[in-house]
Amino acid sequence: MKAKLFNSTALIIGYYGETYTNSKNQPYPHKGVDFAPKLSDWTVFNPMEGGECVHIDHAHPNYGKMVMIHSRKHRTTLRFCHLDSIAVNVGDKIKQNQKIGVMGATGNAPNGAHVHLEEIPQKDFGNYDFNTPLQGNSDPLSLLYYLGCDMEEYKW
Ligand SMILES: [Zn+2]
Repeated sequence: MKAKLFNSTALIIGYYGETYTNSKNQPYPHKGVDFAPKLSDWTVFNPMEGGECVHIDHAHPNYGKMVMIHSRKHRTTLRFCHLDSIAVNVGDKIKQNQKIGVMGATGNAPNGAHVHLEEIPQKDFGNYDFNTPLQGNSDPLSLLYYLGCDMEEYKW
């Protein structure tokens, strides 16, 4: 099955490792990839080949409404941030291309609605602190390309 993040092409609007600026004008490294769908359907899907919802936060100061899905098969975890609504619960088994929520701008998303996606590989997951912001420590694009997600760079 072809994996999807949205029902249309996922536009890449910000890369992992880029230098972003916070509200106090201080630079920080971007620890995820920012996406928005090419068309107007804002539904967000799990692209991985199965997984389990391991963590949800409804009001994280930075991430807003956030879902974390762990995949045994891929030995990694994806964190979907700034959602407007969440469609899964902790402990749910999540199928590939299952709806997990709707894109939004909750938490720290001053430039508007998008999905900030982080990856935490298995080797780092045991010590993962769910409450510390900006801890994605791997670029999720390789996994998404491997899964066949339809993505393209957004031309500003
Ligand atoms: Zn981001």
